[in-house]
Amino acid sequence: MAEKWVYLFDEVSEAEKYAGSWDGVRGLLGGKGSGLADMARAGVPVPAGFTVTTEACNAFRESGNFPGGMWDQSLTALREVEKQTGKKFGDPSNPLLVSCRSGAKFSMPGMMNTILNIGLNDQTAEGLAKLTGNPRFVYDAYRRLVEMFGTTVFNLDDEVFEHPMAEYKSKKGYKNDTEMTAEDWQALVATFKELFRQHVGSDFPLDVYKQLELATKAVFESWNGKRARDYRKATNISDDLGTAVNIVSMVFGNMGFDSGTGVAFTRDPSTGEPKMMGDYLLNAQGEDVVAGIRNADPVARMAETMPEVYKQFMDIAGRLEKHYKDMQDVEFTIERGRLWMLQTRNGKRTAKATVKIAVDMANEGLISREEAVLRVSPENVDALLHPQFDEAAKQEAERAGRLFGKGVNASPGAAVGQAYFDADMAEKMAKEKKQDTIMVRPFTKPDDVHGMIASKGVLTSEGGATSHAAVVARQFGIPCVVGASAIRIDLERREMTAGDVTVKEGDWISVDGTTGQVYVGQIPTSAPTLDEQTELLTLLTWADEIAAREGLRKAPEGWPTRGLQVWANADYPQDARRARSYGAVGIGLCRTEHMFFEPERLPIVQKMILADTSEERTKQLDLLLPSQRSDFDGLFEAMDGYPVIIRLIDPPLHEFMPDEEALLEEVITMRVKGQKDGLAEKEHLLAAIRGLHESNPMMGLRGVRLSIAMPEIVEMQVRAIFEAAADCTKRGVVVRPEVMIPLTGTVKELEWIQPRLERIASAVMGEKGVQFDYKFGTMIEIPRACVTAAEVAGLAQFFSFGTNDLTQMTFGYSRDDAERNFLVTYVEQGILPVNPFQTLDRDGVGKLMQWAITEGRKTRPDLEVGICGEHGGDPDSIEWCHLIGNNYVSCSPFRVPIARLAAAHVGLKHSGTSIAEDK
Ligand code: PEP
Ligand code: MG
Repeated sequence: MAEKWVYLFDEVSEAEKYAGSWDGVRGLLGGKGSGLADMARAGVPVPAGFTVTTEACNAFRESGNFPGGMWDQSLTALREVEKQTGKKFGDPSNPLLVSCRSGAKFSMPGMMNTILNIGLNDQTAEGLAKLTGNPRFVYDAYRRLVEMFGTTVFNLDDEVFEHPMAEYKSKKGYKNDTEMTAEDWQALVATFKELFRQHVGSDFPLDVYKQLELATKAVFESWNGKRARDYRKATNISDDLGTAVNIVSMVFGNMGFDSGTGVAFTRDPSTGEPKMMGDYLLNAQGEDVVAGIRNADPVARMAETMPEVYKQFMDIAGRLEKHYKDMQDVEFTIERGRLWMLQTRNGKRTAKATVKIAVDMANEGLISREEAVLRVSPENVDALLHPQFDEAAKQEAERAGRLFGKGVNASPGAAVGQAYFDADMAEKMAKEKKQDTIMVRPFTKPDDVHGMIASKGVLTSEGGATSHAAVVARQFGIPCVVGASAIRIDLERREMTAGDVTVKEGDWISVDGTTGQVYVGQIPTSAPTLDEQTELLTLLTWADEIAAREGLRKAPEGWPTRGLQVWANADYPQDARRARSYGAVGIGLCRTEHMFFEPERLPIVQKMILADTSEERTKQLDLLLPSQRSDFDGLFEAMDGYPVIIRLIDPPLHEFMPDEEALLEEVITMRVKGQKDGLAEKEHLLAAIRGLHESNPMMGLRGVRLSIAMPEIVEMQVRAIFEAAADCTKRGVVVRPEVMIPLTGTVKELEWIQPRLERIASAVMGEKGVQFDYKFGTMIEIPRACVTAAEVAGLAQFFSFGTNDLTQMTFGYSRDDAERNFLVTYVEQGILPVNPFQTLDRDGVGKLMQWAITEGRKTRPDLEVGICGEHGGDPDSIEWCHLIGNNYVSCSPFRVPIARLAAAHVGLKHSGTSIAEDK
């Protein structure tokens, strides 16, 4: 049988048979085509029509021609649509008009072409005018067809038609399109056709079949248009999918004031509130609403103006939401009091709405909790923890008269940047000059998307919550205010004015997408607290429940069978408290050296380093002991009941000393000026710093090597840890200290240092008369430690992968220099798929980890394994940690919620599968 390129809306079952699944149907007919067909099947009123498949598009893109049989099949389908509507294409006595709409598998709002009113020419227009008795509507539709043909099929600038139309209106003294009469539109049709001829070089095609053919080709070609390509790149949609073309019989929203058109979301796409949100316009067509060119009415007003239609609409929308089990974005048209649904798709929404809708729908029983968790991405959670404006600073700005305007809060979040009045400038300044930019336009169009994506925020003076700017900004999580109508934008002078305040291009503004306010100047931002985000908290609790399920992973005796826990890296009690409030159930890394940098401690640390004798060193360390003890005390208290891993000193000592070059300069100056006072000490210090110099300090005297060279430091640290733990225990705090030795390369190092430290631990507990559980373990940061993990685990009771160093040592890339010197090029050239310091290199570093766990647990089956490098907060790396049998991941407090969600996602994705042991 010849290949089938065309499916009528009522042939969806056939498409399903061919494609094998609903996902396959979406791939074949596109989101719009499959949605229309599915609605038709469910008895929802959709206009008759058919879909030309994405396969036809791909064949066309390959050969430049319609594939064999496609056009004939389109004509046959058109005959069927004629039958269903009782109208005839190109017949002046009762003309059928159709739209030609793009529609890919994944929605790409406004990125590709759509042409309406195909089938109009001088004869059919006259016929339709007679038939409807409404020549005004017919000639309005006709001029739109000529205009759309010019701009979308032949790529003319909108200006070509918009200018003459504006001139015509102003000559007549009209403010709105609604004042235009039938004669006015007819005159414009003639003008537009003439403009078309001038700019295209040929006449506007009056042959309706030619119109359909050219429009179909233009839609196919728009798949490869610049804005579609940019959009796909930004949203990771494959370039190979192609678009379907939907030929749909036209229904008209501009047939008078009993007609209209609208778009609506079944729940609020900004906040997720379960209430219908949308706009409609009476006596208008298609894109008038979306473009935000005329101010529309809220859908709720239909309850008064057209109660019957409103009731039917609400009923259908509710059914569609239940059918698709998700918030729907619907387009509808009312033609002379009759409702038609033109589209339904899962609506784009903000991160906030994503979470609220998922949680609400699970609570409503529409979806499961697992499904709710899966619907929220780690990026959504990240966005919710993004900065907001400081309330006090906003009020102060308001008092100071810096509130510039107010519009619709279209996409939440705080954006501060320099204003630019077109997409190219906004993108250029952001990319080339590394500026934070805010793109400001009267309204946006699909061509502006690159400027929006490059900007921190978007501001428009026109349009509403469903305008193009709003929809795109929400999708990308860009704070956005639309319809700030008191602001006058002068694109020629490149400035905007509200009242007597003028903002020029490049001036700073602050845009609050949460409230809709716009301020002149920069307003400080702060991170939101998790406590206020009830739905997110609920969702994360569900995520934790999923990850905590025993049996989620199959594994040998002693290995974890639940999913991953999430711990945090925190150096100070306040970080630990935040981490705990964000849901961390342990501290996976406390970098103790940070505590040595405190201004009052650093001089003591330096004296300790410079000490010539062990006694002198111990004297200085004794001075540090009380402050270290109180640091640890605070940490244990903050993490009452949870494990706290404290890492012993790690960095090379020169990091604690003054800068060598600056000191040398000081010494030379003193010598030159003959200043004797203090010179000898400075010279001594300089000599000592030079003595500490190493060519490769990151591979030098640091970590456990330093502890062996100067055991007094870590002995003091262990004493401080155990004294603090004992004091806390006495106060009723439940402590679970774990002492971590960094940078182990051979078990011999542990054999040398660990027993000394364990003796101190026992001694302190004896002195204090308390006992508690504790562990000694090591960081795994050196490939040799991975390879010999079976031996290392003989002493170490836990492993924590320090993947920053492990990546550095495995690749041999300096973690401090590689990014700036060559990593970017390596990623660009495809030598590396991603930056391995951000996402774990599974094939190299990851394999070493897998080996280390397997070997380590051969010696110690219940070996506790974690990760505390930066990768611990990266979803892809978290997946690897799940697969190889980590007990937990540890990351910065701010990433804890993201990691909790990621841990649940990988748990669900790999539910019940065996941990991959390295055999
Ligand atoms: C690591 O190396 O991964 C690590 C956590 O330690 P640091 O970054 O302090 O070297
Ligand atoms: Mg390290």
